[in-house]
Amino acid sequence: MTTNPQSNREEERTGSMIDLVLKMMAIPGRSGSEGKIAEFIVDALKNSGVQDSCIQFDTAHKKSPIGGEVGNLIVKLPGTVKGPRRLLMGHIDTVPLCVGSQPYVDGGVIRSRDKNTALGGDNRAGAAVVLNTWLIIAKQNLDHPPLTLFWPVQEEIGLVGARYVTGSKLGNPKLCFNWDGGLPNMAVVGATGDDHIDITVRGIASHAGAHPEDGVSAVVIASKAIAQLQEEGWLGLVQKGNQAGTSNIGVIHGGDATNVVMDQLTLRAEARSHKAPFRAKIVNAICKAFVQAAKGVTNAAGKRGSVEVEVRNKYEAFKLSNEEPVVQSAIAAIQQAGLEPNTRVSNGGLDANWMTAHGFPTVTLGCGQAGIHTVNEELSIEQFQQAGDIALILATGKA
Ligand SMILES: [Zn+2]
Repeated sequence: MTTNPQSNREEERTGSMIDLVLKMMAIPGRSGSEGKIAEFIVDALKNSGVQDSCIQFDTAHKKSPIGGEVGNLIVKLPGTVKGPRRLLMGHIDTVPLCVGSQPYVDGGVIRSRDKNTALGGDNRAGAAVVLNTWLIIAKQNLDHPPLTLFWPVQEEIGLVGARYVTGSKLGNPKLCFNWDGGLPNMAVVGATGDDHIDITVRGIASHAGAHPEDGVSAVVIASKAIAQLQEEGWLGLVQKGNQAGTSNIGVIHGGDATNVVMDQLTLRAEARSHKAPFRAKIVNAICKAFVQAAKGVTNAAGKRGSVEVEVRNKYEAFKLSNEEPVVQSAIAAIQQAGLEPNTRVSNGGLDANWMTAHGFPTVTLGCGQAGIHTVNEELSIEQFQQAGDIALILATGKA
């Protein structure tokens, strides 16, 4: 038995952190069903002495296409020392595959005992890092600047919680840190932007055997457009000069019967680029290809089909410079935790995209999740604990 109070404290800290994440991963809570996990966090906060008046939910879920049980959970805490307010966040929903997860410790990692589920480390591990950091501060009475703890909902279905957060409830934080999937020493300082494109192609129906020449086939129009986009390099990885982006047609629905010339076809596509003007070029190329294809297909009477395109931005790209205080803090904290810091820009969207768009530049850090969104998902215990060390350094203003 050790007599060193410091190492006792360390042991208590890391042991309870693992218990915490095991409990949080076992609570089902896909996007829109975050009521139970939010309740668990609120109970833990109250038990640690947080006043009811510091804990609130916003109404982000009311703006969500799926509704949902609760809005974002926001906890605003006064500091014991002066300094700019710091925000720690981690989304509390999981992908549906995680429902039923039975987390257990297997050597150096945590996995789900049920082989048909994902673990839910994405992102209960991130949510646990934030909660655990506060529980340590409360238990050990550590000094800290003003803190906002933020648990957004519905990240997995399109960053909904962060998009519709009531920003005024966050208390004007100056340094914002988000925990999500990946390595603890990897600071994500930027991410791509993403546009969603809905395309409806309307043809003219006719009997495919009796009067095929009277029809205008929606699938022929769409095929011509897609073939042209592919030939001109506007699909998949798109590179034009020194500009780059991606696009994808992911969903197609059309037709009811083989004996009817297809009169309607809908497609769902996306375009991404770190540069908004180039993303707009990709979207424009896709729109143009469909409109032109519709002009090129006529029936025997010379009639044509038509195309309708709707574009909406899912999230805007962002890139923080290395001089940003939040980036400097994150790098210093990673170093203080004994790790080699790395920065990277993501090709996927993060809650940080919307946070930054709302005026709260946010760095995202990992906490040891691997194989996310698959039944092989696991959480590295060592990396998870390192993420906890980094979070504590940041929350107590040591970096
Ligand atoms: Zn996630």
